[in-house]
Amino acid sequence: MILGHIFCSCIISGVLLLTGCFTPSLSSIQQYSIRRAALFNNIRHHLRSENIALSEDELAVSTLLERMKADARAKQLPGKPWAAQYFPLVKHKYEQTELYAFLKAMPKGAILHIHPIAMGDCRRLVHKITGRPDTYVNRGKEHYGYLAIFANNPGKPWTNIMEERGQAVDKKSYDENLLSLITLDASDKRLPDIWEEFGKIFSRVFGLFREEGFWEDYLFSSLKSYVENDNIQHMELRSHKPDQNTFRMYRRILKRLHKDGTDISLRIIYSDSRERYPGETYNQFQKRILDSLYTAADLMEANPDLLVGVDVYAEEDKGAPASFMAPLMIQAQDYSRKKYGRDLPLFLHDGESNLPVRRYHDEKDFAQPFPRKYNNNVIDAYLLDSQRVGHGISLWKIPELSIKYRDKGMALEICPVSNQMLGFVPDLRNHPAVSLMNNGVRISLNPDDPAVFGYEGVTFDYVVACLAWDLSLADLKSLALDSLEDSALGKNEKRKSIEKWKDSWRVFIARFK
Ligand SMILES: [Zn+2]
Repeated sequence: MILGHIFCSCIISGVLLLTGCFTPSLSSIQQYSIRRAALFNNIRHHLRSENIALSEDELAVSTLLERMKADARAKQLPGKPWAAQYFPLVKHKYEQTELYAFLKAMPKGAILHIHPIAMGDCRRLVHKITGRPDTYVNRGKEHYGYLAIFANNPGKPWTNIMEERGQAVDKKSYDENLLSLITLDASDKRLPDIWEEFGKIFSRVFGLFREEGFWEDYLFSSLKSYVENDNIQHMELRSHKPDQNTFRMYRRILKRLHKDGTDISLRIIYSDSRERYPGETYNQFQKRILDSLYTAADLMEANPDLLVGVDVYAEEDKGAPASFMAPLMIQAQDYSRKKYGRDLPLFLHDGESNLPVRRYHDEKDFAQPFPRKYNNNVIDAYLLDSQRVGHGISLWKIPELSIKYRDKGMALEICPVSNQMLGFVPDLRNHPAVSLMNNGVRISLNPDDPAVFGYEGVTFDYVVACLAWDLSLADLKSLALDSLEDSALGKNEKRKSIEKWKDSWRVFIARFK
């Protein structure tokens, strides 16, 4: 890098020295410029937004967008860009930009990667918890901060929240304290293992969502907010081991939303954890995953309008590799085809990793226990015909494979804020999605677990990406459109959804032109 710098400086000084006694011929400079323009055209060739021609009104909005990006950049110190800072430290700064309001109003199509347990606004959740007489917080050492709803007071170490808050002198800081139990904040940046705290947060809220009415209400308010406040029209939720009762609940929620005038479409991806639970043997783990895959196949037959496929999630570098689970997935897909005559589509969380990829095939990959010191999951996701891939950020390490993803149309569900907060991309300007997008790989922007990251919706993911990757209006339009194109909606519904999005886009452009 330093050598490159010296080399460049030498050339520039040489040119400056030469200009005094020698003027290069105009044609050489013109030729350089022509070659440069051709190279730019060539390297842009695969960018998906290259297919988008902007109308006159859109060009006016594009000028506005560039001005808003420049304004947001002007607010940042040269050595301290927001993209390189831990998201909770700069969240409020993004929020205060005009760009944020613009992107919030933008019709963003679909969210394809989100976990329902972590999708709703946490402040609203705290408000709900503190407003009910039957919510409790665990003040014991072992499960400190666990929250739950009980019909009767369970006694120590559980404390009734309403009573505890009633005695608190400062109600605001009491609520902030509850909030800090269920979100990752600036102080968590210093933790040696962010995934440990991340996991604890899910354990802390789980007890609340065991109460079906509370869970249903949380999902209802959250989905409503995604449509009304964030301009989302379609969502695909990674639901943890849903059963028939869960699907009845999703149907009730959809009915309520539609009755309420909230126009949203919804799909569910059955998900189980790739983590081996404490005390679980490898055999028991395999049996659990296989049971889940078979259950997903059975539930798909019973709920073809809602359930679209299956996934395994959780911390990838510690959990089971895709190769270890591949034989189970193939077995379950065979089961689904033979029993129901239908495919069992996979929507795999893969490539959310900091480990190196291994460059040779190893038979033992199928049987070797985990965790391992390498991660080849993007290879297995490709071979397993995953419909889309959750994250997929390690794909940048294998350029040849990224071409295969592009040519097959395999889309990645990119989650920029999540990737930074969970330690994969500390400086979002260097997010692998930039290289993958430039190479024509289809991507969508998603929030993953926004509640845990302190927000609701996907606007923050758009605003960080827009600034860090210098996204144009054509890029934004292409991302929103692709999110619907890459959704699991059926052909007709997808066509209608895209038409609906185009109408919303026209209204949005007319508003800002
Ligand atoms: Zn996820």
